[in-house]
Amino acid sequence: LAKKDSTYNLSLEDENKEIKKQYRKLLRSFQREPSKEEKKKIKKAFLVAVDAHKDDRRKTGEPYIYHPLAVAQIVVEEMSLDAISAIAALLHDTVEDTYITLDDIENLFGKKERYLIDGLTKISTTNLQTESRQAENFRKMLLTLSDDVRVILVKLADRLHNMRTLDAMRPDKQLQIASETLFMYAPLAYRLGLNSIKDEMEDLALKYTEADAYKAIEQKLKDTEAKRSKLIASFTKPIIQDLKRNNLNFKVKTRIKSIYSIWNKMQKQKIPFEEVYDLFAIRIILGSEIEREKADCWHAYSIVTDFWKPNTQRLRDWISQPKANGYESLHTTVMGPQGNWTEVQIRTARMDDISEKGYAAHWKYKSSKGEDTGLDQWIAQVREMLESPDSNAIDFIDDFKSNLFSEEIFVFSPKGELIKLPAGASALDFAFEIHSQVGARCTGAKVNNKLVPISHVIKSGDQVEIITSKNQKPKENWLSIVITGKAKAKIKSSLKEDKRTIAVDGKEMLQRKFNHIKVEFESRNITALEKHYQIDSATELYYQIATGKIDLKKLTGYEVDNHTISFVKDKIIPAPRKKKSFSKAEKIEGIMLDDKGANLKYKLAACCSPIAGDQVFGFLTISEGIKIHRTNCPNASQLMSHYGYRVIKATWSGYKEKEFLATIEFTGIDDLGLVNKITSALSKGHSVNMKAISFESKEGIFEGEIRLYVQNTEHLQTLIDSLKELDGIITVDRITEAN
Ligand code: MN
Repeated sequence: LAKKDSTYNLSLEDENKEIKKQYRKLLRSFQREPSKEEKKKIKKAFLVAVDAHKDDRRKTGEPYIYHPLAVAQIVVEEMSLDAISAIAALLHDTVEDTYITLDDIENLFGKKERYLIDGLTKISTTNLQTESRQAENFRKMLLTLSDDVRVILVKLADRLHNMRTLDAMRPDKQLQIASETLFMYAPLAYRLGLNSIKDEMEDLALKYTEADAYKAIEQKLKDTEAKRSKLIASFTKPIIQDLKRNNLNFKVKTRIKSIYSIWNKMQKQKIPFEEVYDLFAIRIILGSEIEREKADCWHAYSIVTDFWKPNTQRLRDWISQPKANGYESLHTTVMGPQGNWTEVQIRTARMDDISEKGYAAHWKYKSSKGEDTGLDQWIAQVREMLESPDSNAIDFIDDFKSNLFSEEIFVFSPKGELIKLPAGASALDFAFEIHSQVGARCTGAKVNNKLVPISHVIKSGDQVEIITSKNQKPKENWLSIVITGKAKAKIKSSLKEDKRTIAVDGKEMLQRKFNHIKVEFESRNITALEKHYQIDSATELYYQIATGKIDLKKLTGYEVDNHTISFVKDKIIPAPRKKKSFSKAEKIEGIMLDDKGANLKYKLAACCSPIAGDQVFGFLTISEGIKIHRTNCPNASQLMSHYGYRVIKATWSGYKEKEFLATIEFTGIDDLGLVNKITSALSKGHSVNMKAISFESKEGIFEGEIRLYVQNTEHLQTLIDSLKELDGIITVDRITEAN
């Protein structure tokens, strides 16, 4: 039992009042009034849940029943789901956490309820013990998709409420849950068309994974609010008048971009907040009859563009061709009164409902329109991926995810067949989409009758014909050409097969070499070689020997003793360090780990090179102790969501007088003196120890990278700021090392 939190102190009586109040609110929130029978069942579910959880409290100190009530409220109010979904939400934690059994559920409610609760209990994410359990759970959850999507919708509501109340958790738990949400739940919400829930999940997650950035953006949004309102008013005024003159039934809303989307854009395009031009969008929602929808939307479009000039390249018509998640809308970007590009989204109330509430709303309208917008097709695809025999859970989620967020394009086969692909797909992706054999033998393509390489990125509306040759086969670099999970999986398995075949030759070559130098062909000796070349598998070693990457003729520096090989260099203890600068990360002290990792060795992860002052966490690796990563490491969300139980809380302490290697990237205007200016600013002005500097100049633009030793994030920021001052410098950014 959780202790009562000091900030939480309602009397028991007030608690009971509050519980009843929440329950009554739930009953009022149904979009369709539940039948008498349903109301009885809802009440029963409420009473059963209240009793089952009567002794439990949440981490906040509140009665546990607040949670299932809140989840039911989300399910009913924000997802517009039905009575049985509310019942499932009320009972979702009973079988997992209390004396209630599945048989009880069936006896008290019925088979359908039993099925839903069973689904929810199975995919419960508590008590992670085994590796990739989280990924397995996620996969299990997807398996219930085609049976009853309500299981997943309730699960998403559960997660959303847990995110809303994340403050009460321990910081390392917060990070883990937030990452998991970003990595799996938000994409899933998006794919099911629950856009506002997806936005909220992302914002809440960012609040924990990038607390400072989140707060800064939040503040800037507040600071610019008054100015923005004025701008919006002058933009919408003439449009509103004209819409009225034309007797259109409409509402105008302003939609502010979510903090996460703003942050994402700033990261991707490396721009400051001030340069995010699409901070808000104007939404015109029409109350049209179903048969007038399309005509009315285009009518509104014509009114908007009478006043503001559209950018025709940014016209998106998701009314004629809805997105696969059911999204319908007409988007245009126009030049507003102060010369700002502004997005206008035109849609009907029905389309708006679908865009906010997704699958559930879609389901509601589907029967009236009688057609499918692609969700069923997608569910079938997910099933196919799940049932593929060699899909491992973690790969599956990575592939699943990589296909989620991208926008879609529509392309045509030579016969005019319409094929959907994620935006950014190449001709090679298209080939694999047609058939894995067509992909494997693809040598080129004709796009709109023009010959293009397989890496050619195709666009919506292209007609694509694939050229094949029976001598062709998948190559390593193909992995960087394709973006679809399907193509990636096929290429990987073909390469693996190839590698094994080639490795056989390498193995024979090594056997001959060992024979020659009187070394036994035994695992201890093979391992010694693997270590020497820093390779982690025998197959890879053989492969590199066979392909000449490792030349056995040049093998030196070894000793043979009693048929056993050892490498002289590998045995030498590294010479004492020169000067103060530091060579190996393992020597760094200054990280405090929580109890789980108190006596373990740690290293700073090479993928994100943390420096003192960064927000960090420890990750328990299989063979190398604990690795310290930045919380915004590109790998962090994957590590935490797949192996949350291996995450260890870490903080900096006692790192004074240590130095950390950091990499900064800069661009500037091509100027011969620029390198000099930079190096002298760093070495003279700040007496910084530089490890390496590299640069390249292209078409008048100068790009470079410096690796240098700094004491902490503050020190690094001072250096970055001082470089920014230099004439000719355009940008200076810290980057994680390319590995
Ligand atoms: Mn729950």
